[in-house]
Amino acid sequence: MSNNERTYIMIKPDGVQRGLVGKIIQRFEERGFKLTALKLVQATEAHLEQHYADLKGKGFFPGLIKYMASGPVVAMVWEGLDAVKTGRVMLGATNPLQSPVGSIRGDYCLAVGRNICHGSDSVESAEKEIGLWFPEGVNQYISALEPWIFE
Ligand code: UDP
Ligand code: MG
Repeated sequence: MSNNERTYIMIKPDGVQRGLVGKIIQRFEERGFKLTALKLVQATEAHLEQHYADLKGKGFFPGLIKYMASGPVVAMVWEGLDAVKTGRVMLGATNPLQSPVGSIRGDYCLAVGRNICHGSDSVESAEKEIGLWFPEGVNQYISALEPWIFE
C-alpha cells in the first residue's frame, strides 16, 4: 500500500447525462486523492470490449457495451493511499441496491445496468485500464496538500 497508488475511475454515460460529474469528482477530491488525468471520451465498442474483456461471454455483456457506448464517459486517474480498494468502497457494490447509503452508487442509482461509475478492482487491473484509456500517459505533479493529507 503506497501513498501514490493509482486507480482508474470512470463516470459512465448515465452519470454524465444525469449531471453527476461534479459530485463524483468532488468526493474523490474531498477524500484527499490527487487527480492525475481526466478527459471526456466517446469510446468505441471495440475499446469498451477491451476494457471489459474479462466479462466477455456473460449474458449482460452486449447490453453493457451498448450502454457504455451510448454517450461520453469521464475517464480519470486518481492517486493516493490504498486508492484502488478505497475507490471501490467509495463506489459501493456492483448492484446499487446492495450499496450502502453514503457510497456513490448507494446515493445516486438503483439498477445494476445503470450504476453510473466504474472503479478498478485491483492494482493490476488499474494499471491495465490506465494504459488503455490514457496511452498518452498521465500527469505528475506535487500536490500542495500532501503534507496535510499524509504524515
Ligand atoms: N453488470 C450488469 N449486470 C450484471 C453485472 C454487471 O449490467 O449482472 C454491469 C454493471 O454496469 C457493472 C459492469 O457490468 O458495473 C461490470 O461488471 P463488474 O462485475 O466488473 O462490476 P463492477 O466492477 O463495475 O462493480
Ligand atoms: Mg469490474
